[in-house]
Amino acid sequence: MSNHMGSHDMCDFLEALHSHGVFEFLGREKSREVLLEACKCVSDGNDDEILEYIGPELSFCYYCKDYGDIDDRGLCEKCR
Ligand SMILES: [Zn+2]
Repeated sequence: MSNHMGSHDMCDFLEALHSHGVFEFLGREKSREVLLEACKCVSDGNDDEILEYIGPELSFCYYCKDYGDIDDRGLCEKCR
């Protein structure tokens, strides 16, 4: 994957994957790996921007990169 993607491009891309049911198909653990890769791909990006939509959709915390009860800032109960 290109390293020229910005945070918002990646965010849109993850939304597109989600709309095609990709994360449902992969299951929790594989989805987590994909989200970690997505954050690594955007070298100068902010994880909270990358996961702005997909995080709450999948109950995935942008800070600790784990599943949890996500609030409206995208943080799980441990990271608030
Ligand atoms: Zn967290």
